[in-house]
Amino acid sequence: MANQELAQSVKAALKSVEIPGGGNLADYPGLSEVIVTPSALAFAISVEPGMEGAFGPARVAATEAAQRVAEGRKVLVSITADRAPGGGQQQAVPQTRQAPPAKQAVKTVRNIIAVASGKGGVGKSTCSVNLALALAKRGLKTGVLDADIYGPSVPRLLGIEGRPAIREDEMFEPYEAFGIRAMSIGTMVQGDQSVAWRGPMASSALRQLLLETNWGGLDVLVVDMPPGTGDIQITLGQQIDLAGAVIVSTPQDLSLIDARKAIDMFKRMNIPILGMIENMSYFIAPDTGNRYDIFGHGGARDDAARGGIPFLGEVPIHGSIREQSDRGEPVVASMPGSPEAQAFMEIADRLLAKTRFS
Ligand code: ADP
Repeated sequence: MANQELAQSVKAALKSVEIPGGGNLADYPGLSEVIVTPSALAFAISVEPGMEGAFGPARVAATEAAQRVAEGRKVLVSITADRAPGGGQQQAVPQTRQAPPAKQAVKTVRNIIAVASGKGGVGKSTCSVNLALALAKRGLKTGVLDADIYGPSVPRLLGIEGRPAIREDEMFEPYEAFGIRAMSIGTMVQGDQSVAWRGPMASSALRQLLLETNWGGLDVLVVDMPPGTGDIQITLGQQIDLAGAVIVSTPQDLSLIDARKAIDMFKRMNIPILGMIENMSYFIAPDTGNRYDIFGHGGARDDAARGGIPFLGEVPIHGSIREQSDRGEPVVASMPGSPEAQAFMEIADRLLAKTRFS
């Protein structure tokens, strides 16, 4: 069935779902558009603050009704009591809301680390994937979850294609690549749909992706977070039990200013900062092997020292990091003896020296 038709059938199915106060969900003005992707069906029910609990049964009924017409897709239904998302990036952890719900652990995952950055394009995803591979090389059962709704790149980095399998118990089956397990919001978001996914719906879909994947027993799950300090980061940080955060920055001042905001956000949520990685730290000319500190190398190290944050290491700018990534063969897996891959191994070792993740 075409996506549009499927969305219509879902709406029709939601006519059977009663909502508090009378009426049916299909006619309820707080129902979002129904998003259809190859692996998922998603919609949000926006309710008045305080009404989340009352809408619980409607959510369950809506999930069941949608599941019947979903043609094997996973159904993600979120209830949001937030005001309209507004689209802007939130800069601070909200202080005035009621106490956040208790943080949830993810079944069969011992430790979750969030890899974050103040802004996009600093190599956060590249670092997440190579760090996950490096931890796996050190004998840990490792997974990576791509939570970067704005630019999901883990499928490309790991050469993953197709939609994830959904098991009979409705859990996602993660992909396997280079000995690690992987899931990506990118297998659900398609092109221009990312706009519709923003805000509370994206946070809720991500939470489900995290909680409803059959991770199968991991020592560490590396979460490639969206850049910045928006709603998604805050919701995940408040709702999921994270072992800590790793911050990726380039040495430039501007990137560092943003990195500090990200660090501040995690600190306010009482999430330990496990350390900082300086990516694109220096350039090694492929022909001569000469080193050039084009961005003023060392900025992140100095900044980490000033903020009392562990410094995990430097990753050089190297054509092979980009080229191998584009080919779906990250350097730690494909060129393990190279200095680039060694940089990631050292970062993993520094992390493991502090936290055993077992
Ligand atoms: P982010 O997740 O922060 O947006 P990415 O990991 O997607 O950043 O990296 C952005 C671009 O920079 C990609 O094309 C990637 O291949 C490239 N890149 C990242 N780190 C390096 C590096 N150390 N050397 C060369 N290219 C890099």
